[in-house]
Amino acid sequence: MNIVNLIDSLYKNNNLPYNELVYILDNMTLEEREYLIKKSNDTRMKTYGDKVYLRGLIEFTNYCKKDCLYCGIRSSNKNADRYRLTMDDILECVEMGDNLGYKTYVLQGGEDPFFSDDKMVEIITIIKNKYPKNAITLSLGERSYKSYKKMFDAGADRYLLRHETANKQLYSTLHPGETFDSRKKCLENLREIGFQIGAGFMVGLPNQTNEHLAEDLRFVKDLHPHMCGIGPFIPHTDTPLKEYAGGTVEKTVTMMALVRLLLPDVLLPSTTALGSIDPTGREKGIKAGGNVVMPNLSPTRVREKYSLYDGKICTGDEAAECRVCIERRINKSGFSVEVTRGDNISWAKENIDKIN
Ligand code: SAH
Ligand code: SF4
Repeated sequence: MNIVNLIDSLYKNNNLPYNELVYILDNMTLEEREYLIKKSNDTRMKTYGDKVYLRGLIEFTNYCKKDCLYCGIRSSNKNADRYRLTMDDILECVEMGDNLGYKTYVLQGGEDPFFSDDKMVEIITIIKNKYPKNAITLSLGERSYKSYKKMFDAGADRYLLRHETANKQLYSTLHPGETFDSRKKCLENLREIGFQIGAGFMVGLPNQTNEHLAEDLRFVKDLHPHMCGIGPFIPHTDTPLKEYAGGTVEKTVTMMALVRLLLPDVLLPSTTALGSIDPTGREKGIKAGGNVVMPNLSPTRVREKYSLYDGKICTGDEAAECRVCIERRINKSGFSVEVTRGDNISWAKENIDKIN
């Protein structure tokens, strides 16, 4: 097989079978990788142009009942200094975000039973009343169909639930007592309810192979989510995976480029984790087809506590500083900041009435 031909075929047809994806991952040279990234960038230019969307990230609780092996706020980590933001805290973040031009807020947290359906409905309703035109994205892990539906009916627009890894066996070893199938079911429920959905996976997980990564690629191709968050696994000192190596920038960026080619209309964040393992990691992600960045809006006093992995960047910067910094980085990479809701383009075409 000739890799340039495979990339050309992927560029043209936005599809490639599993075996050929594995072949690319196993054999691609540096030059061929550059070609892949160029094609991925071309594809993004055709769909979203040079616009990079900003979302304000509010990390509102680090309590979690789950025990994912990789995560620094897993329930077994007794060293985690737990916090919850109040309604007022959250509103302050949203207000700050609106002033900074963020028209989407991502409310992210551990699976915290304190934030019941009623509580979430209250939070969503208050934000939506005040900022009816802005979008709310939730990222609170696995909940029931009924729970997702209540939050959607209250006005939430999107939901991020990374599938983490599409290999069932690897999934089970990383998530005690959990299954990939139930994660997948949640994503299907979310879509059926009407959310714009975000899947995604980590790169460089312990014992993860190129075959596993090709499964991730096939999974996202078949699911066709509106968003796909891809970031390197980064070990956290207080977890059982602390001795493992993390994912690399190169591999993560390669996976982003492949996903952009498989799904030209996907919203593809260049993640904070990528920026945490390389000072220009996010820029590299943007150049490879990434078109979303999520600057932190959480109060600085809690930033260190939302510690999913070691070495997380931007924990000391005020939201306004993050805003300036991120715009500078995006402009320097040759792209421009877009301060609209930034919906998935295919979704927006079908839902014009919901945006205006
Ligand atoms: N509790 C929710 C959302 C918070 S975690 C959930 O799990 O869906 C958000 C994301 O952080 C996870 O989906 C996971 O992909 C990522 N994450 C957690 N620990 C990580 C680590 N050690 N390195 C890199 N990413 C990590
Ligand atoms: Fe909890 Fe999410 Fe971390 Fe898993 S990844 S322990 S669900 S916060």
